[in-house]
Amino acid sequence: MKGPICSICMRSDFLCAACNEKVRTEKLDKLTLDVVRFLGSLEDRYKNLRDAEVRQVMDVGKALVIVAGKGSGGKIVGRGGVIAKDLNARFGMVRVVEEGTREEMIQSLLFPVKPIGVNKVYGGGGEKYKLRVKMADKKKVPMGNDEFREITKKLGAEAEIFFE
Ligand SMILES: [Zn+2]
Repeated sequence: MKGPICSICMRSDFLCAACNEKVRTEKLDKLTLDVVRFLGSLEDRYKNLRDAEVRQVMDVGKALVIVAGKGSGGKIVGRGGVIAKDLNARFGMVRVVEEGTREEMIQSLLFPVKPIGVNKVYGGGGEKYKLRVKMADKKKVPMGNDEFREITKKLGAEAEIFFE
């Protein structure tokens, strides 16, 4: 795991001086440390986690959102969502987004589904994203529109999924 704390601190309950300083200056909360340490503890079982990166963890109410480094989203979700299931069992509902532009982050919430298109609409409240998803993929989308809207709002955007 690559995370905001070093690999030694990730595997212990203590923080070294450097990490302690980092936690203080970057205002890393307990939640982020808990999630990073939990994922670190799964490394031996899921080898792909070794080079997965967690940037941040956000509590968005109904769910926790793990902001993963670029290319790390799939590794944290695990094959067939196997690690996501472990995360859900430990922390309640957990969602994973991949760091990137706002549009990329929003799209990554649908993982493993890829939208067939993203329309950006400019309206009264600013820009809004319409993610167009194949009806055939509906069952594979990890969340409903209510949750999707709630999470994307926390990411600073309005977005909605359209099935067609
Ligand atoms: Zn450390």
